[in-house]
Amino acid sequence: PTHASQTHVVILGAGVIGLTAAHVLTEGDGSSLFKVTIVARDMPEDLNSQAFASPWAGAHWSPMQADDRLVRWEKYTFDKFWSMIPTGLVRRLPSRIYFGVEDAEKVSAWWRGIVRDFRVFPSDHPFPAEARSGVQFETFSVNPGVYLPWLKSELESRGVTFVRRRLNSLDEACELAGERGAVINATGLGARSLFGVEDTKVYPVRGQTVLVYSPNVTEAVNIFPAGTTKPSEATYVIPRASTPGMVLIGGTYQSNNWDTSLSIPTARGILARAKVLVPALAEPTTRIHAHNVGLRPAREGGPRVEVQSVDVPSEDSLTPELSDASADTKAGLVVHAYGFGSAGYQQSWGAAEEVVRLLKENLPQ
Ligand code: FAD
Repeated sequence: PTHASQTHVVILGAGVIGLTAAHVLTEGDGSSLFKVTIVARDMPEDLNSQAFASPWAGAHWSPMQADDRLVRWEKYTFDKFWSMIPTGLVRRLPSRIYFGVEDAEKVSAWWRGIVRDFRVFPSDHPFPAEARSGVQFETFSVNPGVYLPWLKSELESRGVTFVRRRLNSLDEACELAGERGAVINATGLGARSLFGVEDTKVYPVRGQTVLVYSPNVTEAVNIFPAGTTKPSEATYVIPRASTPGMVLIGGTYQSNNWDTSLSIPTARGILARAKVLVPALAEPTTRIHAHNVGLRPAREGGPRVEVQSVDVPSEDSLTPELSDASADTKAGLVVHAYGFGSAGYQQSWGAAEEVVRLLKENLPQ
């Protein structure tokens, strides 16, 4: 039961965005001000479910195309994860990025202030083929298989309830939240088919990766060849946090491709490209651990973090004879938080702060 003074917040979605929003909401006195219920079809322990994105991420910080809002979230999130390194959940990761263009300074200008120990390689650096410049810096990675269950157990210890259920509509979520309650919609790709949202700007970006055991790979490495600002194939290597020796290598960025089955030719291509970029992957100790396919929940125009006031049928209107036209709806507060595409982890803490701020500012007094 909700304590009389508590606001009931229903968070729809238990990916990294819904979980992080719940974490921020229940910090400090939040756990006494808010009763939080997370309603989701896929739960943090469903680490083999391809129906949500969060289990399949790298999950590290690397530069994506970004506007001012996203840069703000990324800076905040980077600092937060960096401060979590001592917990053991977050791995500090030396990183190299190579560019097909010559001007590494220019292409990294917007993000060099986010990462740590940023340096441009001198021109006599041994660049891989296809690369004409590059940078090195310190970033981080987390292991979704450890991090998502950790978030869940933290939330449970703060009294957050988890309900496994697929909802058809935003109205159902508002009804669960009840009068004076609020909903956070963190459904990722689900926002496309949730009645009352039906956001056709949401689309999948298929990401195929290979998880290998390769104990001598200790750096994250990416290459952005020239002329391909949005390549459907990328080459990146991300040592995993929490599981020494495990390395995620990728990958693909295939927009509007809903196919969650494995492509063997794609996997071969990923492995071949990654071995050229990081020769330690070709050592005989390297073993394939798993082939993965995940769908990134992207959105034209970027993530939707926004307040919406929706008309929700009041309880009276469910009984027709009692309903009266003027009083059969009430306003429900919804904060949307979906469409994070390739960057849900690296924007999670910053976006969650904004979601919670919007929620608090818009709650009825
Ligand atoms: P999701 O994780 O998709 O969660 C959606 C939730 O909503 C689920 O719980 C689902 O069950 C629930 N849901 C949906 N519809 C309904 C409904 N109708 N009723 C009930 N529940 C519903 N990001 C990074 O920051 N760094 C990386 O290095 C990185 N690498 C990636 C590599 C790959 C291969 C992939 C696939 C992704 C990568 N990402 C990375 C992106 C990241 O995984 C996503 O941005 C992030 O997981 C999105 O989280 P989310 O919570 O918004 O959505």
